[in-house]
Amino acid sequence: MSPSKATRYFITGGAGFIGSHLVDRLMEEGNQVTVYDNLVSGKREWIEHHLGKKSFRFMEADLLDFDTLKQAMKGHEVIWHLGANTDIPAGNRVTDLDLKNCTIATRNVLEAMRQNNIDKIVFASSACVYGDAPPVALAETFGPLLPINLYGAGKLACEGLISAYCHLFGIKAWIFRFANVVGARMGHGVIYDFIQKLKQNPEELEILGDGNQEKPFFLVEDCIDGMLCAFNNSDNQYDVYNLGCESFTTVTRVAQIVTEEMGLRDVNFKYTGGKRGWPGDVPVVHFSVDKMKKLGWSASHTSDEAVRIAARRLLGKEAR
Ligand code: NAD
Repeated sequence: MSPSKATRYFITGGAGFIGSHLVDRLMEEGNQVTVYDNLVSGKREWIEHHLGKKSFRFMEADLLDFDTLKQAMKGHEVIWHLGANTDIPAGNRVTDLDLKNCTIATRNVLEAMRQNNIDKIVFASSACVYGDAPPVALAETFGPLLPINLYGAGKLACEGLISAYCHLFGIKAWIFRFANVVGARMGHGVIYDFIQKLKQNPEELEILGDGNQEKPFFLVEDCIDGMLCAFNNSDNQYDVYNLGCESFTTVTRVAQIVTEEMGLRDVNFKYTGGKRGWPGDVPVVHFSVDKMKKLGWSASHTSDEAVRIAARRLLGKEAR
């Protein structure tokens, strides 16, 4: 199905960081878009430029409210399911946060799809499903998958539920395991946190862990291009794709880039120590994106470049 034909899209989490960029893109392409979001971490201001348009609808509602979800989903053709708890440390403290807002929410989405005869879902999973894997470029075939935080456990459970619904009820799914997605409108993550901390104290920056954690960062527009590329070019009934880049950036390097972009000098980096930033932090994530490359997609920037661009956008130095 080509997104250039007006398609009726339903986007859970569409008022969030990635979701709102996806909304902009699908609206630009002339589609009909419904956003379903409880605004727990999303913001009305990120979608308000679409409010009032005939082809756009916003429902402020919870994925855990099954009857409302089922009713709202009626008449749509494709579900982009991005709604979830995205505060990973909070999910380790409040141990049913991911169970409810990721796993049960996804079961509700799938069940509402089944009852409404909707047969296409695009799902935002995460590199967290790989857990504490060896420091090699992980392909989608890597296993066993042993997540080390409840967010990753929730995402893996969702992947399993989606697979079973596809097998039993003829649903088609595109699952994306995202690396760290960065850009404007980010409300969480290490770049955002460093900027907030440095605004409060420009002389000293607390860095969780030893700063040697290595993660791939890529831009939100690349994330959306990648999802659309696989959605348009893969016909498999259920498939999983890593979405990110092959390069990576250490947390100390992120701190250096952020301080440079803020024009700060001689900032004292104060490390809390240990190889993990917090319990459940995966210190080393290296990604293979060969499967996406075969479909013709790759990230437009290296990880370091993406960090710098995202920092500049968050600081208002670069538009997007
Ligand atoms: P986000 O927090 O900005 O977006 C999540 C959205 O879901 C928010 O708008 C929030 O209000 C909504 N939401 C949460 N619980 C809900 C519920 N019960 N009912 C209705 N809406 C609910 O975060 P994001 O970075 O845009 O993440 C989007 C998706 O991508 C999430 O599924 C996330 O797990 C996944 N992901 C993101 C990254 C990343 O680096 N940003 C990495 C891996 C996976």
